[in-house]
Amino acid sequence: MPEPATDFIRQQIDRELAAAAGPSAVVTRFPPEPNGYLHIGHAKSICLNFRIAEEYGGVTYLRFDDTNPLAESPEYVKAIQRDVAWLGFDWGDRLTFASYYFERLHQCALELIENGNAYVCSLSAEEIRRTRGTLTEAGADSPYRNRSVRENLDLFARMKAGEFADGAHVLRARIDMASPNLNMRDPVLYRIRHALHHNVGDTWVIYPTYDFTHCICDALENVTHSLCTLEFEDHRPLYDWVLGNLSLNAKPRQIEFSRLGLEHTVMSKRLLQRLVAERLVEGWDDPRMPTLAGLRRRGVRPRAIRDFCGRVGVTKQDNRVEMELLEFCVRQDLEEDAPKGMGVVNPLPVRLANYPGEGEALTAPWHPRRPELGERSLSFGPLLYIDREDFALAPPPKWRRLSLGASVRLRYAYIIRCDQVVRSADGKVCELICSYLPNSKSGSDSSGVKPAGVIHWVAAQRAKPVKLRLYEHLFKVRNPSGADFTESVNPNSLSVASGFIEPAVASSRESHFQFERVGYFHRDPELPDTYNRTVTLRDSWHPPAKK
Ligand code: ATP
Ligand code: MG
Repeated sequence: MPEPATDFIRQQIDRELAAAAGPSAVVTRFPPEPNGYLHIGHAKSICLNFRIAEEYGGVTYLRFDDTNPLAESPEYVKAIQRDVAWLGFDWGDRLTFASYYFERLHQCALELIENGNAYVCSLSAEEIRRTRGTLTEAGADSPYRNRSVRENLDLFARMKAGEFADGAHVLRARIDMASPNLNMRDPVLYRIRHALHHNVGDTWVIYPTYDFTHCICDALENVTHSLCTLEFEDHRPLYDWVLGNLSLNAKPRQIEFSRLGLEHTVMSKRLLQRLVAERLVEGWDDPRMPTLAGLRRRGVRPRAIRDFCGRVGVTKQDNRVEMELLEFCVRQDLEEDAPKGMGVVNPLPVRLANYPGEGEALTAPWHPRRPELGERSLSFGPLLYIDREDFALAPPPKWRRLSLGASVRLRYAYIIRCDQVVRSADGKVCELICSYLPNSKSGSDSSGVKPAGVIHWVAAQRAKPVKLRLYEHLFKVRNPSGADFTESVNPNSLSVASGFIEPAVASSRESHFQFERVGYFHRDPELPDTYNRTVTLRDSWHPPAKK
């Protein structure tokens, strides 16, 4: 049984089911256009469509809305399937394409022509735009509006046969040029486009428009609830008009909800495409992108995205949310079971002057609260790296890390004290000479010394040199917009640090880790020895601001 409805769409379905006599299935669809990669806004729609069908015992189609051959490509078709599956949803054998239905759509167009509900218009695109009227003024009828059915059938057949150039004619619905709704002013149903289509090649030179295609595909697939974003609200009368004038039996209902927006990024394939094309990012799967491919590469897992989509909810209100909410979900997911290791982002060498021998192997759990994840071996030795941030020449009050004369515990290892600071000619700290307390080993500490704090480290001898990619928001401003939105790309959105990680992390089969005190990281699937910081730790300690 479905849970009590929590949003207006589920409430509406509940009411319909209560009112209907007999069983009623719920069929939904997710209809991406394969003109780019999916972003986290799409994830909201995917979760909504698949979950609703699942909750009400129905099914969901993954239907590619591929009616514009100029923008679409098989690369995107493949990427979209991968992303939907990765998110955890299964369309079974219900993978379809609007282009599968081109023949049926063409028949529907003929039906409209025959019933006097569509005509071939020979105005140019510009003339159509000009005679469409405005919000306050009615449009003007096309001089071709009263062509006979015979003439329309003949011209439409010749359009299909490829006799005319692009733009010479279009097929338009014959509705009402004075309608207060501009979408109802004889909208275009078919246009001529001599272009290769990724699925049907050069079979067709006329292509149906979105408004004509979408409702018919919904009807052909027996979709019951066609869930889409609010910008289609004004198209709903047309959706209903097309179906109302055809002899198809199904009557799907279109229901609109608000688009998800995320601050500090953009969320439209067209804009994301520009970032890729202008090389402001490294590709659709750049970890700074809000694409599912980018988030995956960054280290975000599907569970976090599903949780996020559940939290943002489904309403008709503005749905622009803060990045912090996504980060919260990402952390919460990784906190659960990502193994913990140590990595040093900005290495400062530490020499243990009193450490005898070459080194030793210590052990540490992969996750203190998850003993089932096991333990790892941690090599320790006379030369270590700590993070520069963990040492202060002039420590502020309550400094809980290392400074000259102070002691700290090295996580899972010993307490060390800083005895000497080696500085280069320009004053930069280049090495710390420290001493370690042999009887302070973690777990069997009998030193009686109370260290200022605990810091992370990596033993130089076995440390694996890696590139650590650290990210900030892709845009400096909360709401990047306008034609020149690319100007607000954050130049510091990526910084690459040359750091070190412990060898057990480098050789682990896991790819998601928490580097203690530094953040959650994900081993990059493409670049060698590279780790992307997925998200920082909530409890990361920030030094007090300088006075
Ligand atoms: P984009 O501008 O990113 O290309 P779109 O709506 O044109 O978005 P489609 O591929 O047509 O992209 O979208 C597929 C489905 O995903 C549609 O039902 C659309 O309403 C939904 N969708 C797209 N963007 C969002 C978003 N930001 N929030 C929620 N749903 C979205
Ligand atoms: Mg679209």
